[in-house]
Order: sequence, then structure tokens, then C-alpha cells
Amino acid sequence: MPDSSTKPPVRRFSTEEGEYLVQDEVFLRNDGSTDKTVTTALTFRDFLTGRTVPLRLRRIPEQRAAVTVSAEERKLDSVFMREALLLAREAFDGSEVPVGAVVVKDGKIISRGRNRVMELPDPTAHAEVLAIRDAARVLHTMRLTGCTLYTTLEPCYMCAGALVHSRVDRIVFGAADPRTGSCGSVFTIAGSPLVNHRFRDITGGVMAEECGRILQEFFESRRHGRPG
Ligand SMILES: [Zn+2]
Repeated sequence: MPDSSTKPPVRRFSTEEGEYLVQDEVFLRNDGSTDKTVTTALTFRDFLTGRTVPLRLRRIPEQRAAVTVSAEERKLDSVFMREALLLAREAFDGSEVPVGAVVVKDGKIISRGRNRVMELPDPTAHAEVLAIRDAARVLHTMRLTGCTLYTTLEPCYMCAGALVHSRVDRIVFGAADPRTGSCGSVFTIAGSPLVNHRFRDITGGVMAEECGRILQEFFESRRHGRPG
């Protein structure tokens, strides 16, 4: 058995090729390239016998080839982000951390969400979760295939997990979140080859300045004792 005091923690996960134990992460970055930090991975049997084998990354080039967003689609990103920003402003006016999200299908907004954590009160009432729930209700399905979620702030681990479960095609976010961002900033949940959903694309930084500014404005107003 590897000596746990000198090696990184070992995690266990399953792929189509069998069960593996990894000692590092493989990150799939937003542009579809990989940050290959895994040096060794073990099958469970190998782990028990102490034999190491290289992790096969066969599925990752396929994922890279699958990253396709048309120029027309990209052109609309700022249009839909502007709608998400209006919702962030609504959250701001309701003294909530200003984050807004919309779900788009076939070029149309099918649902909207904004942070309502304090209003409800509900710690899971993030903009993305509320937009996902509403989109599923509108489409009468638990699979949001063919949908894109736009959000003003990089999804947290809960929302990134919800996006994996929802099976949306694309995630487009504005400002990166250095505290809980889970599309690559702090954690890679959306876009990880270890989760059971491949996004067609994850794009960050769309109108990042505007999306970040409203958050900054909010936290500054709170520091000065003028919430909202
Ligand atoms: Zn969240």
C-alpha cells in the first residue's frame, strides 16, 4: 500500500474502464484542454497489490473535439448575460448577493432565477438552482438537454453539481469566483472528466466586468452599513 504520509490523498472513482484510485486530479479546463496533473492511477486490485499503472486519458481528446460553439451563438452570449444582470440587479434591490441566471433553449429564455437565499429563506436558493428548477418545470423534464445556463457569477460547488445533474449543454458565466467557483477557479466540478456529464462548452468571463462590479458595489454598500 502506498505510504499515505508522503503521497497525496487517494480517491476512488469508477469509469467505463473500471474502478480507479487516483492520487491527484485531472482537470479539464474551460477551453477543453487538459491540465494533466495525475501521475499515476491504480485499479482497485493494483492498489491492493501496490502495482501502479498510468491512467488512460482516452476519452479526453474526444471531449476536446466535442467543444463547439458557433460564432452566432457566441454573439448572443452578451445579450443573455445582460438579462442575467438585470436579475442580479433585482437581487441587489432585495438586499441579496446580486447574482442572476437565465436558461436559454433554441435562442429563447425559458426561465430566470436570482439569488433568494435570505428572502425565502433557503440556503440552496441560488440563482442557478432556481433557474434550473423553473426550466425543468417549463419543459416538463428533468433533463435540460439543449439548454444553456447563463449566470453572472461562476457557479459554486452546489450549483455546478446541479448543472451536472440537469444535463445542460453549456454553461456561460460572467465573473469568476475565487472563493467557491467550481468551473475551474477553485474547484473543477463542471468540466471534470470524473463526473458523469460532459458539457458541450463552458465559457467564463462574458461581461465579467459588469458582473463583478455589481457584486463589488453590493459588498461595499454592506460594509458602509447601507444594505441594498
Ligand atoms: Zn451556487
